[in-house]
Amino acid sequence: MKIYNFSAGPSILPQSTIENTAEAVKNFNGIGLSILEISHRSKEFQAVIDEAVSLFKELLEIPQGYSVLFLGGGASMQFCMVPYNLMEKKAAYLNTGTWASKALKEAKLFGEVVEVASSKESLFNYIPKDYTVPADADYFHITTNNTIYGTEIRKDIDSPVPLVADMSSDIFSRPVDVSKYGLIYGGAQKNLAPAGVAFVVVKEDLLGKVTRPIPTMLDYRTHIKEGSMFNTPPVLPIYSAMETLRWLKGLGGLAAMEKINIEKAALLYDAIDSSRLFVGTAKEEDRSIMNVCFVMKEEYKELEAEFLKFATERGMSGIKGHRSIGGFRASIYNAMPKSGVQALVDCMKEFERTH
Ligand code: PMP
Repeated sequence: MKIYNFSAGPSILPQSTIENTAEAVKNFNGIGLSILEISHRSKEFQAVIDEAVSLFKELLEIPQGYSVLFLGGGASMQFCMVPYNLMEKKAAYLNTGTWASKALKEAKLFGEVVEVASSKESLFNYIPKDYTVPADADYFHITTNNTIYGTEIRKDIDSPVPLVADMSSDIFSRPVDVSKYGLIYGGAQKNLAPAGVAFVVVKEDLLGKVTRPIPTMLDYRTHIKEGSMFNTPPVLPIYSAMETLRWLKGLGGLAAMEKINIEKAALLYDAIDSSRLFVGTAKEEDRSIMNVCFVMKEEYKELEAEFLKFATERGMSGIKGHRSIGGFRASIYNAMPKSGVQALVDCMKEFERTH
């Protein structure tokens, strides 16, 4: 039976990424050594990180003046690195979920944090739109895709101060106007690579403005200067990221990827919206095209455990919703084929016919 991986992260990766990474583990580039055992300073690995950075810039059409970094510590490390490097006195945060709240909490260690708006009162089921960003904030932080609640900011918003975005769970799902952002970061373990590496796209002229001393390892300038090799970088996930970026380019780039993603999401949301049993949890205008959250309607709540079992037995892996909202979450990242979404829709329809 075919198993479809709907897990929220670590999550599905392109088959070519998995196969080519497996091959590189056995015999990297035919050199008779494994990628696991070669020096990160070897010319072979330098070529990998150079290609990963170059494809990153090409696919996102990153303008001059920005650096792309691959760092350890996951997206969570960026929750503190961002304020460490960018906040002198004050920063603004939009609170759209658990991850945004965690980012906000860290920022408070460095200065005044203005929560411009929050959707916490309705279990983060929408993106607040009515807010003002203080003009004297050092930056404005948003989370473009709220992995747990299935909401997404799919438009590059205007900000009066440098815009910082956590794009952990929707990076490379659509074209992005990078010039509107001061810094973009995320963990790689959704749309890019296995866990272990975080990506950072940073506008260089924002750095060096804070007066506090920054530990060397937490200073973006260190990693820019050393080409992400101040210390030993996560070699294997960077290799896999390069493979995923090659796959994306081969597919036609981000406009092509977005088109497919929109089709996949529409297929699943249409099935939810026309269902007798299921209902979506996120407000329609803010629905994510990466994480689709749904529950059983109130009168059918007792069927949730049964559907989970039914779907799991039919190869739908990882659809249990996050414990904070329950129900179901189908993560349909870039690498999820339309046939996988169709299989889930068929499964939902079959359950509905028989219940
Ligand atoms: N931000 C978002 C939006 C996430 O979904 C996650 C992980 N699910 C994180 C941050 C934390 O990432 P990491 O585990 O790499 O620290």
